[in-house]
Amino acid sequence: MAMPTQQRIIKTTLPGPRSLELQTKRDDALPTGLGQTLPVFVEEAGGAIVVDVDGNHIIDMASGIAVTSVGASNPRVVERIKAQAEKFTHTCFLVTQYDVFTEVAAALNRITPGDHAKKTALFSTGAEAVENAIKIARVATGRPAVIVLSHAYHGRSLLTMSMTSKNIPYKEGFGPFAPEVYRAPSPYPYRWAGGAAAAADEAIASLRELVLTQAGAHNVAAIVMEPIQGEGGFIVPPEGYLARVQQFATEHGIIFVADEIQTGLGRTGEMFACDHEGVVPDMITTAKALGGGMPLAAVTGRAELMDAVPAGGLGGTYAGNPVACAAALGAIEAIEQDGLVQKARDIEAFVKPRLEALMGEGSLVGDVRGRGAMLAMEFVRPGTTTPAPEVAKAVAAHCHAEGVLVLVCGTFGNVIRLLPPLVIEQELLEDAMSVIEAAVEAQR
Ligand SMILES: *Cc1c(COP(=O)(O)O)cnc(C)c1O
Repeated sequence: MAMPTQQRIIKTTLPGPRSLELQTKRDDALPTGLGQTLPVFVEEAGGAIVVDVDGNHIIDMASGIAVTSVGASNPRVVERIKAQAEKFTHTCFLVTQYDVFTEVAAALNRITPGDHAKKTALFSTGAEAVENAIKIARVATGRPAVIVLSHAYHGRSLLTMSMTSKNIPYKEGFGPFAPEVYRAPSPYPYRWAGGAAAAADEAIASLRELVLTQAGAHNVAAIVMEPIQGEGGFIVPPEGYLARVQQFATEHGIIFVADEIQTGLGRTGEMFACDHEGVVPDMITTAKALGGGMPLAAVTGRAELMDAVPAGGLGGTYAGNPVACAAALGAIEAIEQDGLVQKARDIEAFVKPRLEALMGEGSLVGDVRGRGAMLAMEFVRPGTTTPAPEVAKAVAAHCHAEGVLVLVCGTFGNVIRLLPPLVIEQELLEDAMSVIEAAVEAQR
């Protein structure tokens, strides 16, 4: 199938009549707990365009939540999926093995931060990767506790939901939660009481106190952090913070796990967000962009840590499915061969100043932040830092009505995040930005 025209084309109101029909059928068959951002049904997608069943061409500034970084149905990914599907779709790697699994692991060992000996285990979802990082860290250290941050998001399974910070909608009613999860304050520069300059020092002091006096350092297996917090609101920690956490962890025999599920694989303008500051985590979790749209996740870590779990302790029926592995090789190839890390920087260079121009006296935009093609603006009541989730919602609704798909995030629901496919064409990006700017202007 040919790639859909990389142009915004709106033929009906959104959602259109055919989508509305399918919505009725969906509502009858599906539980309300499954939310939706833009209730259209998709017919096809390619590059940075999603075509719905009414023929509308919508600009994708979400990438299915940072998954289709190489573009929807990237040819390098599709070719490899086809070839692998024709050979075999499943054996269970724990039953009979296939080399494409090893190839993905070797690629991750090569491209993740640090040149020490590494090993990688593959899984299917991000939550599963985080769970397994904790399993490995507990066995490697013989310790139970896990330290996470406020505003963190690590998934929806019991342990990862317990590690996630935000109650509604992720945790409400789903308790009791997993024990031995401790939470330190995230150094959120925009909202730190003492200001951005104080955030790193004070957050490190809080982390130290939590570990040393509440958990006991000898009980702590891992400190798990997103190097840029995703669902929490694209919060970039102050410079130097991550390195200090890594150093503190090392001093106390604690494993520092970077959850790069959203930030990894070129998204932030480096292969990994940790690379911006030369931070080398002991373990790193990846998923989202890794499979180029297929479900694949990984834990990569120091070889001696990864080998701590005896044979049979890790795995899963679908973990490292061969079709997903083939897709991942295509995605990694696209990121490396098509210059997509640089593309993420180019996107930042174009988009960030335009977002920043929306700030200023009396503006609803209180903060603009992010790195590479992971950029966000936080909405507040003008002249204050009081969150304005209703404004973020209205801006998103305006964009959606105009055929630009954006996502809302943030602990206070007041952040619009932009996660375009890294392959987005310049004209399409310009069109999307004009719509987003108009959407913000319309809220004044
Ligand atoms: C999305 C995400 C997860 C969970 O991944 P799933 O594939 O949805 O289980 C974990 N950590 C971070 C940082 C994420 O963005």
